[in-house]
Amino acid sequence: MTQPPNGSPESIEPPMGLLAELTHRCPLQCPYCSNPLELVRRERELETADWSRVFAEAAELGVLQLHLSGGEPALRPDLETLVARAAAVGLYTNLITSAVGLDADRLARLRDAGLHHVQISFQDVTPEGVELIGRAPGALSKKIALARAAVELGLPWTLNAVLHRHNLDRVERFLELALELGAHRIELANVQYYGWGFVNRAALMPTRAQLDRFRAVLERAVRELRGRLAIDYVIPDYYARYPKPCMSGWGRSVMVVAPDGTVMPCHAAWVIPGLTFPRVQEQPLRAIWYESAAFNAFRGTGWMREPCRSCPRREEDFGGCRCQAAMLLGDAAATDPACALSPHHEAMVQLAERESTAPPPPFTYRRMGARTTLRQRELAAAGA
Ligand code: SF4
Ligand code: SF4
Repeated sequence: MTQPPNGSPESIEPPMGLLAELTHRCPLQCPYCSNPLELVRRERELETADWSRVFAEAAELGVLQLHLSGGEPALRPDLETLVARAAAVGLYTNLITSAVGLDADRLARLRDAGLHHVQISFQDVTPEGVELIGRAPGALSKKIALARAAVELGLPWTLNAVLHRHNLDRVERFLELALELGAHRIELANVQYYGWGFVNRAALMPTRAQLDRFRAVLERAVRELRGRLAIDYVIPDYYARYPKPCMSGWGRSVMVVAPDGTVMPCHAAWVIPGLTFPRVQEQPLRAIWYESAAFNAFRGTGWMREPCRSCPRREEDFGGCRCQAAMLLGDAAATDPACALSPHHEAMVQLAERESTAPPPPFTYRRMGARTTLRQRELAAAGA
């Protein structure tokens, strides 16, 4: 344990998890993808040897769980090698996949290489619903096939459902599907409005009535499925009373490594102006975790202002999400407007109610090179 340089009384524990975004390439184009608008291209991705060193450094630092994510990590031809290297240094490995481009044979090879767990994203429960979001024809049958393969191979798997106004009313069917396919866990995650989700917020925002119904279904499912299916859930911030303890606190338990080696405390932290994020090519993970300015910027409680500074919940939710405060208020050190104690909370709720009851605009789908187009559209709208 180390004392943080910002004078906070808390000590710094080692990170529990590392999210390795192996690539931003993906066969899907989900309009809520949390990847940045400026996606990293293939030629800037870390090589096998770089990732292997990162995993060894992570294990040495005290990381226990490695989440192999993307984009679609199966697009990396060296995925089996990476899993084997991670397993060799003692990391518990979880593969986060869309299942498009990953078949049963390759999953068996990954299991043999040391993979412990797989998380499969289901954009919806119908072929049309999955295609509306992911734009990959035939994707649902591939997801179902991979889920069955995971069960056959004895790999525990989680069904990840990202929920929004177009599929929230089918939450019962998501639960049934998880049970039918033998999932160990389901994640019912309402869209978080970062990255592409922020661009598409008005097209995705559910109504309060949808959310109230979701809560009732959730409460019943948690009661009735106890012992059969583990249920995790995320409520949309815009309708919350208190914010989520984002990433369990800034620089407190997770590190995220982007495909080009940039290390952040959260996958959305690139939206915060003025922070420079270190890269694994320049510094060891240990130095990044304990000493970098970026990881210490919002660590502990020393950076907080009122109302967080004197709030009894400050050690529970850590003032909410810094990225959301930066995006909505232009001030990363402000109280997350998702909190009812923020002076900006009411405006956030009104915005959600306004957007969710208006007809949904068309999606802006996630794709490489789209940032320039988005900027051009902004300038056109502003009459520039
Ligand atoms: S959210 Fe969709 S587009 Fe983004 S990485 Fe996952 S599957 Fe690909
Ligand atoms: S005031 Fe700050 S610490 Fe208190 S509940 Fe709101 S966000 Fe959390």
